[in-house]
Amino acid sequence: MEFNTIIEPFRIHSVEPIKLMSRDERKSAIEKAKYNVFNIPAKDVLIDLLTDSGTGAMSRDQWAAIQHGDESYAGSPSWEIFREAVVDLFDFKHIIPTHQGRAAEKILFSSIAGDGMVIPSNTHFDTTRANIEFVGAQGVDLVIEEGKDPATIHPFKGNMNTDALRELIDRVGPQNIPIIMLTITNNSGGGQPVSMANIEEVSKIAHEFNIAFFLDACRFAENAWFIRLREAGYENMDVKEIVKKMISYADGMTMSAKKDPLANIGGWLACNDDLLAEKARNMLILTEGFPTYGGLAGRDLEAIAVGLKEAISHDYLQYRITSTSYLGDALDKAGIPVVKPYGGHAIYIDARAFLSHIPPLQYPGQALAVALYEMGGIRGCEIGTVMFGMTPQGTEVPATMDLVRLAIPRRTYTQSHIDYVIEVAKKVAEDAKGLKGYKITKAPQFLRHFTAEFERLN
Ligand SMILES: *Cc1c(COP(=O)(O)O)cnc(C)c1O
Repeated sequence: MEFNTIIEPFRIHSVEPIKLMSRDERKSAIEKAKYNVFNIPAKDVLIDLLTDSGTGAMSRDQWAAIQHGDESYAGSPSWEIFREAVVDLFDFKHIIPTHQGRAAEKILFSSIAGDGMVIPSNTHFDTTRANIEFVGAQGVDLVIEEGKDPATIHPFKGNMNTDALRELIDRVGPQNIPIIMLTITNNSGGGQPVSMANIEEVSKIAHEFNIAFFLDACRFAENAWFIRLREAGYENMDVKEIVKKMISYADGMTMSAKKDPLANIGGWLACNDDLLAEKARNMLILTEGFPTYGGLAGRDLEAIAVGLKEAISHDYLQYRITSTSYLGDALDKAGIPVVKPYGGHAIYIDARAFLSHIPPLQYPGQALAVALYEMGGIRGCEIGTVMFGMTPQGTEVPATMDLVRLAIPRRTYTQSHIDYVIEVAKKVAEDAKGLKGYKITKAPQFLRHFTAEFERLN
């Protein structure tokens, strides 16, 4: 790049106010929320980095497409527009629209998996794993060793360990593995990309054993951009061609349109297998809707169709990936430990290293998430012992890592918003040793991080 300033490749067309509050007001808001950022009303958050899911800004053309939505029950023209846009990138025979990604997962696994079956992936996203386990099957994560260590630099930390995959097939038998999946980018592994070579190799192994190969393709465009940046032979290839090549290795996919497709809702399941498609459509009618809308309004289908075209724009992806690494670089320079290399959609602060005086069972990630909110109204998400520390036996153990994820909504915040986040994080770092741990005073049985209540320790 010729210049260092990040240029957002858009100008602002419609604005939404965000509320400036005093530090005292935020202190009482987080106290009232029992020190759980999920309990803070969104209107009391200045910069909301809780998730990049469904939180992006739609374009002028997407809003125009919303007006074009046709709400006919069956065979709406909006369905045709959606289907054509999807197939233009993801050339599968059957496209089955759903209201979001997990609905596609539910339908897929109910159709193909059951008791005693095993479904490998690089790392299953939590809804994917939950839907696999719901039908009695087992999800197995086989990401490469480099992908498990926050400090190791590797261009494709989302890759699958293909030796481990062969070993697993050998051990459980190919007849017990209905599909092999890859999550691109690897969300639960820090948004790390998967290389084209790895996609090709995993596909080859799957097909050698007559197993179907599916992509969880929520961040397909960011993954393609990383391939263009980091994998030899792709530096001059158009992102659209890279996407089509990634997809050419797969027999099907699941998608959440709340991620790279730049919509606020939506998803789909796609495949080439006629029998699977028939089963899936039968299930779709039970829980989602008729096959030409599947849980979405006609207007949503149109917004997704336009979003898909915008998601593969080189100017957009250049801005997207550069602005995420801009935040990572600034925190790194300030001495705040961050997971490297930076993923596409989020920066992860290593709270266990940053707040090393707080033991894992006093939740350093929670302490940091609360501090970022109190200091500057920034909402991130603890991904650590609060989220993963409770065992099925009811005992608590430290999670592998204690991270705080700062997810970047698409096209939503400007460089000055991010500069503000950096300034707040540096201010928190100045008095990091003064931060205290927490204890949980109330927690539900499952997924406790969403609703747990905390008390600050002295
Ligand atoms: C978000 C996500 C899902 C689930 O999609 P929803 O639209 O939230 O239901 C599945 N896989 C990955 C990798 C995701 O990031």
